Amino acid sequence: MASKAYFIKASIKDGEKVISEKARKLFRAGGFASCFQENDFTAVKVHVGEKGNNTYLAAPCIKGLVDELLALKTKPFLTDTSTLYTGHRHNAIDHTILATEHGFCLDTLGIPFIATGGLFGTSETAVQINGELNKEVFVAYDIARCQSILSVAHVTGHVATCLGATLKTLGMGCASRKGKMKQHAALTLSIGDDCTRCGECYENCPADAIWLDDVKAHIDQDKCIGCAECLAVCRFEAVKLHWGQECEVLQKSMAEYALGTLKGKENKGAFFNYVLSVTKHCDCFNTPNMPKIVDDIGIVASTDPVAVDRATLDLVENRSGKTLGQLLKNKKLDPRYQLEHAERIGLGSNDCQLIEVG
Ligand code: SF4
Ligand code: SF4
Repeated sequence: MASKAYFIKASIKDGEKVISEKARKLFRAGGFASCFQENDFTAVKVHVGEKGNNTYLAAPCIKGLVDELLALKTKPFLTDTSTLYTGHRHNAIDHTILATEHGFCLDTLGIPFIATGGLFGTSETAVQINGELNKEVFVAYDIARCQSILSVAHVTGHVATCLGATLKTLGMGCASRKGKMKQHAALTLSIGDDCTRCGECYENCPADAIWLDDVKAHIDQDKCIGCAECLAVCRFEAVKLHWGQECEVLQKSMAEYALGTLKGKENKGAFFNYVLSVTKHCDCFNTPNMPKIVDDIGIVASTDPVAVDRATLDLVENRSGKTLGQLLKNKKLDPRYQLEHAERIGLGSNDCQLIEVG
């Protein structure tokens, strides 16, 4: 039987209050209240946006959802995990300060931001799964421990996973530092002879893993954390990756981590994708004013984390008339690896009935 996904049209032009109310309308229409019980510790998984980025999902856009959880008398908290790379979300202190600056805090939303994974992103639980690539995955402790989850994803493209939506939010976004490392280990990047020695990758590598000699740039594989930032910033296609094989492994591993994140929370999760200001790169980029790759579409929500991403992908591709890989200007990138693998391991269904809410 097809999984249900609920959809409401929306645009950034509506303004934050209207977007928030539309999300609330979707929450009610989809009966998502049944996922949450009084006194649940409920993780509201968000991405607060890297410093300098201004296309992330603004905090007030999720106010209606938070208010619904408060009305249900759960104990919701905003949360995200530390990044692998240095920056403003690398540890709990900097992350919490940035979250507050971006409005993901008690003042704006009425619930606190708690950077799960502890001060250094090392607080974790090993969750046993029967995956193809992972028998156990490492999930941020507090997310694994709490009773229910409301995942709020700002949909974007991604240089290696192609689609950044619910599965990425649950898989990569809820993993501990070790869990992120293990997923990124799928990527082995190198720099080819078409390098012009422009230095862009050197400037942007968060792990100081790139060095330049008189001829070209090089990657120190011992330092590289596989974040793929060099791949994203190189304008000369000099950074090499085994697109099919390595991106497939990364996406499959991410789907298995998503399975681990939700273990014990069966029927206790609601997944919202905001398909607004969809940019080529994710909100980890500190680049301001990234252009949209498709017109604003709306908000999609489901209790099935695969169906919500499948519906989102279909909406984006139908609206643009292009595959997401084409929109990202890399036809070899394909988000279907994560979607198909997620279904294979029992996370959800690609068979989705989309119900539009007026
Ligand atoms: S960004 Fe590309 S061209 Fe520039 S130094 Fe790095 S690999 Fe070479
Ligand atoms: S993937 Fe590239 S940018 Fe990221 S750590 Fe490795 S060399 Fe640096």
